Amino acid sequence: MFDKILIANRGEIALRVLRACKELGIATVAVHSTADANAMHVRLADESVCIGPPPAKDSYLNVPALLAACEITGADAVHPGYGFLSENARFAEILAEHNLHFIGPKAEHIRTMGDKIEAKKTAKRLGIPVVPGSDGGVGPGDDAMAIAKKIGFPVLVKAAAGGGGRGMKVAQTEGDLALALSTASNEAKAAFGDGAVYLEKYLGKPRHIEVQVLGDGRGGAIHLGERDCSLQRRHQKVWEEGPSPIINAAARAKIGETCAKAMREMQYLGVGTIEFLYEDGEFYFIEMNTRIQVEHPVTEMITGIDLVIEQIRVAAGGDLPCKQSDIVINGHAIECRVNAENPVNFRPSPGKIMQYHPPAGLGVRIDSAVYQGYVIPPYYDSLVGKLIVHGKTRGECLMRLRRALDEMVVDGVETTLPLFRALVREPNIIDGDYHIHWLEQYLARGDTNAH
Ligand code: ADP
Repeated sequence: MFDKILIANRGEIALRVLRACKELGIATVAVHSTADANAMHVRLADESVCIGPPPAKDSYLNVPALLAACEITGADAVHPGYGFLSENARFAEILAEHNLHFIGPKAEHIRTMGDKIEAKKTAKRLGIPVVPGSDGGVGPGDDAMAIAKKIGFPVLVKAAAGGGGRGMKVAQTEGDLALALSTASNEAKAAFGDGAVYLEKYLGKPRHIEVQVLGDGRGGAIHLGERDCSLQRRHQKVWEEGPSPIINAAARAKIGETCAKAMREMQYLGVGTIEFLYEDGEFYFIEMNTRIQVEHPVTEMITGIDLVIEQIRVAAGGDLPCKQSDIVINGHAIECRVNAENPVNFRPSPGKIMQYHPPAGLGVRIDSAVYQGYVIPPYYDSLVGKLIVHGKTRGECLMRLRRALDEMVVDGVETTLPLFRALVREPNIIDGDYHIHWLEQYLARGDTNAH
């Protein structure tokens, strides 16, 4: 096992990793920018190192500073959290070159899954169902129209290097295709420095369903069921729940086993999420995230497995926590991402938290790094915290979530709490009847309590 882990992140995920390390008896090193000198992860870590000024490129993404921090403190492993360097294959390699362990998958797997075209090819080869589309990139020499016609309109133009919903354009009809191709490619070039695009069938009202996997890197892998993350705004997840209200035990076992088998074949190491769109009873792979995800607590609440602890154990060469048959889905969990944003126009609202009362009680969990008097800096994401609620049934979970949302107080900054208080009372949400465009359509109607 590792002796000392450096946590190359900030905010709630840095705290989350720190908690896992403490339970495992591993010493912790926090790193921080000058803007985060008073942050909770810094206060609670055994040691801390300032790695640069506020902009992430000069601090949390500053590889030489991180290497120096490892050397000064004698850390033997680095946990990247999510975002920042978590899916940077080169970073994993650089750590290895310095005899440091990267708590994450093998660099080759990060690289393959980071390129959406390669990822799709790999998924297909491993027997994971994919969205019908071009088999690879669509370049100037290809007859994009012929490919699009074969797939059938509407088609979606996607960036190979895409992320966060950028570089994605829908072509409803043949007449839209040329413009969709050029805008998506230009957007991708500007955002990711790579203009490669590919085509996919555009699904009308799918759900976003993702499977959590865990591998030991030696051919052992299990799945831990699915999360339904269909409630999104601008392709960003807002509300996540598990199990999905529309997946039954047989469908769960089937897609889960398909994913676990693929991970065994790859000899995948660590936690990962295989993301699908789901429509008319069919799963379509869209991408794989090779890191711990924001919404991982949903799975922890319904399986009782600490994903960060298991991620650290397998990275250190340990075994999987149990056999597939030991994984039991227990009850229901929902996570709300409470952001410091205006609940109507979603403008970020950084600033000082004057009053803070996190809800508590049976089945209520808050993953957050804020406190009363904390100043949310303007430089990073606007997450105040994640409220995760567990219940024996989905009905009990909703009942408890309603109560917890009403109890939670965050004053001084605007938050998205009013939006969640409205959502938890919406008939479609209560019935589990929604798809990936539902939230945007609901917000466009503007008839919520939050408005
Ligand atoms: P990113 O890496 O940019 O987040 P994804 O491939 O994960 O891109 O897709 C993000 C979101 O875009 C999905 O959750 C879904 O809402 C939408 N999307 C992606 N592919 C399709 C598709 N083929 N049809 C319809 N919507 C899609």
